[in-house]
Amino acid sequence: DELPGIFDLTEQEKIPRLCVYHLAYAGRGDKMRRFDLEPRRTRAVVDYIFQRSQDLHARGIDKDILTVDNHADNPYLYMRVQKEQPQRTEEVYQMLRWNGGNQSGIAVSSIDPLGHLHVDQFSWHYSLGDVRQRPFAEIWSDTSDPVMRLLKDRKPHLKGRCRVCKWLDVCNGNLRVRAERYFGDFLAPDPACYLTDEEIGIAPGTPAAEESARWPVPVHDESAGSSQLSPAPRRRLR
Ligand code: SF4
Repeated sequence: DELPGIFDLTEQEKIPRLCVYHLAYAGRGDKMRRFDLEPRRTRAVVDYIFQRSQDLHARGIDKDILTVDNHADNPYLYMRVQKEQPQRTEEVYQMLRWNGGNQSGIAVSSIDPLGHLHVDQFSWHYSLGDVRQRPFAEIWSDTSDPVMRLLKDRKPHLKGRCRVCKWLDVCNGNLRVRAERYFGDFLAPDPACYLTDEEIGIAPGTPAAEESARWPVPVHDESAGSSQLSPAPRRRLR
């Protein structure tokens, strides 16, 4: 419910860039996991971000507006373009393909203060090596590390709905550390994906539906639908 004010402030103060992060279940984010938005509400927030971004653009106000850490936003954006600007679908899809979805271990890395190299800033629990001992390029291209090997070619190894999703090329299975924290398996489906089985190309009664059901995620529990941003219940951290 604070997002409208944040957008207003960004505009009033002429701030050039606004990043809105989905919750990553790692570090402090993992402790706050129970406060994560339900899929329906996540959709409403993403709708709102799209709407405000379009409004800024329509008024000629140049700003970078980013959503971060949930690459289900890529297909969700594409579906919105299909509805609202069908003439741009091919162009937008090409850009999303270029983006490629989640890039942990591919184009994203993180080095902690001790020199340990990680696949992203949320995965400090797993070190690929120490850049004080080995050059970055050597560690980064060493696929004898099992996590690095899987992340660089993850699609055939994913499980559940991510394995059979039609949007893999533009989402790439989303944030693996969130799946790991939720299911204890970093190849499991990302629990923060708010797209329904239908939206990701899974038809009822098919083997793909069975695979999806083997790894239940929150969106399975609700019938998702685009809605307007309404005040969220206030919650307090305990
Ligand atoms: S099911 Fe997985 S791969 Fe498909 S959009 Fe959702 S998070 Fe991405």
